[in-house]
Amino acid sequence: MKNWSMYIGGRWVGATDGRTYDIINPATAGKVGTAPYGGAEEADLAIDAAVKAFPDWSRRTAKDRASILHRMADLMDERREVLARVITLEMGKPLREALAETKISADYLRWNAEEAARSYGTVIPSPVTGKRLLAIRQPVGPVAAITPWNFPLSMAARKVAPALAAGCTVVLKPALQTPGASVMFAEIAEEAGLPSGVLNLVIGKASAIGERFLQHPGIRKLTFTGSTEVGKLLIRGSADQVKKVTMELGGHAPFIVFEDADLDAAVRGAINSKFRNAGQTCICANRIYVHESIAESFLEKFRSAVNSLVTGDGFAEDTTVGPLIDEHALRFVEEQVRDAMDKGATLVTGGKRVGGCDGYFFEPTILAGVNEEMRITREETFGPVAPVYLFRTEEEAVAKANNTPYGLAAYFFTRDLHRMIRVSEALEYGIVGCNDAVPTTVEGPFGGWKESGMGREGGPDSLSDFLETKFVSIQYETSEGAGAR
Ligand code: NAP
Repeated sequence: MKNWSMYIGGRWVGATDGRTYDIINPATAGKVGTAPYGGAEEADLAIDAAVKAFPDWSRRTAKDRASILHRMADLMDERREVLARVITLEMGKPLREALAETKISADYLRWNAEEAARSYGTVIPSPVTGKRLLAIRQPVGPVAAITPWNFPLSMAARKVAPALAAGCTVVLKPALQTPGASVMFAEIAEEAGLPSGVLNLVIGKASAIGERFLQHPGIRKLTFTGSTEVGKLLIRGSADQVKKVTMELGGHAPFIVFEDADLDAAVRGAINSKFRNAGQTCICANRIYVHESIAESFLEKFRSAVNSLVTGDGFAEDTTVGPLIDEHALRFVEEQVRDAMDKGATLVTGGKRVGGCDGYFFEPTILAGVNEEMRITREETFGPVAPVYLFRTEEEAVAKANNTPYGLAAYFFTRDLHRMIRVSEALEYGIVGCNDAVPTTVEGPFGGWKESGMGREGGPDSLSDFLETKFVSIQYETSEGAGAR
């Protein structure tokens, strides 16, 4: 049983009024720990600490900041087993997926450490003599970071690493369900020698903490990963002080299987993309479009692969699909399936919650005969349900794929090189996987088009969102003086 604390100004603290809440293991519905339930007061203390720490941290050399990030990555590697166990305990994903999450989290620390040293400005040729024109980049200021529960460690790393590398200080607020990974992340930062106040952690009432992030003038930037609904709320709130925002929001990924695709590769890809993290990722395949000429063989192979998935506690060695995060999530998926069935969809496999246990498990499910009228076609599905649609032409598939307000990730499988280029450019998405169901990597920019967000995390520009550009014009000679030479 873990009793976590917040980390503010270099001190491990509880809520000022002593309030705590219980952390629940979604695989058993049992209590596995407690965490402090902070609010506006704790948020203010954390912001003040971040503001105080900013001048020193932002003036350190990039090399110095990078060496601390590298130490954090090394410590994270050393602790990967225990970190992974905390992730699985609090959010349920299979232990091997949690281990993979610790690896990519360390990668984010290393990538951004290296980017820090290459955060160049520009010297611009002056149109007049006697002037030196510079565009330099400086840290934006103290940053507030809000993360979701589905990747509790890697979302923290993906935000905190570039912020620290750029010279910003941070107040991190993890999701209520999964505070443990962020607490351990802060412990690692402390041990790696990060000065007090540079990283702060507040846990508790989201609306109160979020409000302080928006209203406190000390926070100059907000980086958020979560639902589009909350993202919009924060974008509106950020307008009062024109704070910079990065928004990584919801998705509704299409997954297109063309008639010339390698069917086995497409099935493997669909399994990977749809059922990883029990379907609880923003880039999960949510709508599977299959060319009508291959639909029968695809469905047969897909059903057999889905039926071989093993649903269970993430700590069990053979588990490939863990529980959903909570009862609310389970009910949401049940309702989407019921709605589709009521409107004429047919069940290929699965379709109901797993009985006989207290955890929040839903059977890996395939729905066929799905159409545009069903909720599952319009709403993000955060669960192990794969709706399959048929199409006849490439134009139809692309139009249907783009027919959503979301624009995070899209996938398609084909062997036709012309089509690879054509379709990847026609899809209105921030990330496109062509014959690749796992396109995300720290080296690539991650982010969405349309209502899936703004800004990018990772990739060659990962520090950009945490830097302001300053144009400096230095007149070192008057034009008269310059002319006299
Ligand atoms: P959520 O309800 O939006 O919560 C995300 C975070 O926002 C949590 O820390 C939550 O705190 C906090 N929050 C909630 N209301 C808030 C408010 N009024 N002010 C400030 N913060 C607030 O999303 P979720 O259900 O946890 O996560 C799933 C969503 O995240 C999905 O839509 C998924 O697609 C998206 N996601 C996107 C990406 C991406 O990179 N684009 C990655 C992962 C997930 P509490 O936990 O205390 O409510």
